[in-house]
Amino acid sequence: MKALCFTVDLDRDANIPIPGKAAAGSFDRGDGAEPRFESSEKGLGTLLDILSGMGARATFFAEGRTLEMISSKGLSKHEVGVHGYDHEDLTSLSGHDLRVCMGRAVGSVCRTIGRRPVSFRAPYMKIDDKVLEALPEFGIRCDSSMYAPLSESPMPRRLPCGVTEIPVPEGSDPSGKKIAAYLWPMHEGKRRPEEYVRMAAAVKEGVFVLATHTWHMAESLNGGIMDPNAVRRNAEDVQKVIEEVIGLGFEPMTVSEACVK
Ligand SMILES: [Zn+2]
Repeated sequence: MKALCFTVDLDRDANIPIPGKAAAGSFDRGDGAEPRFESSEKGLGTLLDILSGMGARATFFAEGRTLEMISSKGLSKHEVGVHGYDHEDLTSLSGHDLRVCMGRAVGSVCRTIGRRPVSFRAPYMKIDDKVLEALPEFGIRCDSSMYAPLSESPMPRRLPCGVTEIPVPEGSDPSGKKIAAYLWPMHEGKRRPEEYVRMAAAVKEGVFVLATHTWHMAESLNGGIMDPNAVRRNAEDVQKVIEEVIGLGFEPMTVSEACVK
């Protein structure tokens, strides 16, 4: 099996931790760091169009608050997993607060999507044993909150807590610089689609995870809100990565589908 799990963090725009608060804010563009959701909603539409054009299914790790603030139309064709409620660093919460947060986050997916989530990605990719051990209590069977060295055969791995881990790969580019299969630097103009396709080409068998954010389809952290031309070029780059990885023989699959293969 060669599976492509295209994964998307559906969270507030350009999210940043706010000191002293569990809830994240958005990068301050002159009006303060209150959370914004416009780029996330716009970027979701762009990604859904790209995926629908290719007939590919993806996994959206959705933050509860964001799901409630934007239109989730079109998401029902894809897998929707959990990504906190207010984009909390879950490793910083007490066991009680962690469970309150997970309950709200799962409830939000159930209400807006109409299905119970079974997959999870931690906000900021911050995970520890305490968080992992709580996941099965909320029906979560698959996690994608870790990085793992890129290998020829990346396989899902069952963790002691019973959850199956499908990590995001990270390797080195030809110059020896670290590259993870998060498309972040591509959206910021620092990587090209070919570099991610080259990562996938190293995989002979197993599950290759690509990751991005909805807001990053419409907003760059350093460059601000994208103009229509930048949005179009950014979308073309994402489409190129997915198409070319599929062209290498990878079958698009959601995280929970890849978990059981
Ligand atoms: Zn996030």
